[in-house]
Amino acid sequence: MFEESVAKHGGWTAIDFLGATTSYQALAESVERATAGLQSLGVTTGTRVALSLPNTPHYPVLFLATLKAGGVVVNVNPLYVERELRHLLVDSGAEIIATCDLPEVHRRVSAVAAEVGLRHVITCPIASALPFGKSLAYRLLRRRDIAEAPRGDGHVAYARLLVRGRAPMPVAVSPDAVAVLQYTGGTTGRPKAAMLSHANLVAQADAMVVHVGGEKEVQERVLGVLPLFHVFALTTVLSFALRVGAKMILLPRYDLKQTLKAIARTRPTFFPAVPTIFNAIAEAAGRQVVDLGNIRACISGGAPLPSEVREAFERQTRGRLVEGYGLSEASPIVTCNPIDGPDKSASAGRPFPGTTIEIRDPEAPSILRDIGIPGEICARGPQVMSGYWNKPTDTQQVLFEGALRTGDIGYLDEEGFLFIVDRIKDIILCGGYNVYPRMIEEALYEHPAVAEAVAIGVPDPYRGQSPKAFVTVKPGEEVTGAALRDFLRDKLSKIELPREVEIRESLPKTLIGKLSKKELVEEEAQRAAGK
Ligand code: AMP
Repeated sequence: MFEESVAKHGGWTAIDFLGATTSYQALAESVERATAGLQSLGVTTGTRVALSLPNTPHYPVLFLATLKAGGVVVNVNPLYVERELRHLLVDSGAEIIATCDLPEVHRRVSAVAAEVGLRHVITCPIASALPFGKSLAYRLLRRRDIAEAPRGDGHVAYARLLVRGRAPMPVAVSPDAVAVLQYTGGTTGRPKAAMLSHANLVAQADAMVVHVGGEKEVQERVLGVLPLFHVFALTTVLSFALRVGAKMILLPRYDLKQTLKAIARTRPTFFPAVPTIFNAIAEAAGRQVVDLGNIRACISGGAPLPSEVREAFERQTRGRLVEGYGLSEASPIVTCNPIDGPDKSASAGRPFPGTTIEIRDPEAPSILRDIGIPGEICARGPQVMSGYWNKPTDTQQVLFEGALRTGDIGYLDEEGFLFIVDRIKDIILCGGYNVYPRMIEEALYEHPAVAEAVAIGVPDPYRGQSPKAFVTVKPGEEVTGAALRDFLRDKLSKIELPREVEIRESLPKTLIGKLSKKELVEEEAQRAAGK
């Protein structure tokens, strides 16, 4: 797929990293050299190569080179603490890891890599990827932010990797071979790796082209603020860009100011992100000009997009914002709202091209054929993983008669639009009733002062669990928890009404910026146990 784009659009810019550009031809040359370099380090069919990198140009080069050498990319979040990193490296059986030269990240990665016996650590210097002026300033002013990579002992500098080998040896790769081990389930215990094949990833890229468009005379510009080690960005930024010869505008990490600057400088045509990011941009756009009027679409995924956030975003930026739904096990997109047609408020959209959705009874997994009846969302399609790495029992539990059980509850309407009610594990069991936190969150977002809202179940001596909500307030607004609870009275049933609405300065988020309930649930459990 990549080589097709190089042949067609060799002169087009493939990567824009804070103004430093790389053409498709230059990217292909780096990939060739990195492939030969990796082969000289022993990478061959099936070798696991871990990438613990922020969004710098090193990521696409090493990603493509690993695949070209027949290897498997293990996506690693550079912010993982040692315990998480150790688990990932041991579980995946990675032999090599590539990381950046931020001292904190480099120290952690080197220490764990040595402890678990990895053969090589490749160090990618961030400054080397910056435009000349910025690179010089970074080296002079941010010397403390640059780790001195040790020599020997299996340490390899990125620049040396690119000159180690000559031409790569060609390797035949089957479409069904595993391309990526994508760890997931971090919020529910030990993460496990979804095995995503070359065919899974290419199917998603093709479906993106059908759904989003692209491949025209004018080059697409994809804004990549989400980390590429997360499968949402891997598909919507990297694979999509490679498929249509788009320019990837990479930011090393999400930062609101940098994102607004990048939007103004590069005028992206496509922008995937998570609801918390679109929420922050909508708020900023109330104070300064943010114009996305010419964009093809912004696509929100990973968590529910509150209708209020979508409407505020579209009003303030003139950009089109559509919601999609997916999960790591499906590489990840399962449904998406139409880019051009009208979308349905609060719906996660229609099945992605080539995908079939089934709603099944979670207890007795037969298909529920009635419209509008909620059940477990199950998905079939060419993007669905073949299973979890080395976890046959977990695999058996989620792949049922060839369909992926998502663990999410939802229903389809008469036009085939999917409405997600909640996650099975997030449902609050309150006195024998199912309470869906999402209903409470949606109702809270209707209040003009609410910036972010999360509802969870807290221990209740009489009902087992009862709902409690946590909220952050927009800058300049004032409201109390009691007033918000009153506001909810005529919007929710008595059983859904939170016992308390607590105002917080900030809410816990996962490393890609989704609101996270885990910490709040633990806090409340401890509080209840202490009483
Ligand atoms: P992960 O695989 O860790 O990225 O998480 C996937 C999960 O995120 C899904 O199983 C859903 O619970 C949730 N999710 C993703 N997109 C949406 C959406 N549009 N609305 C509601 N939940 C979503």
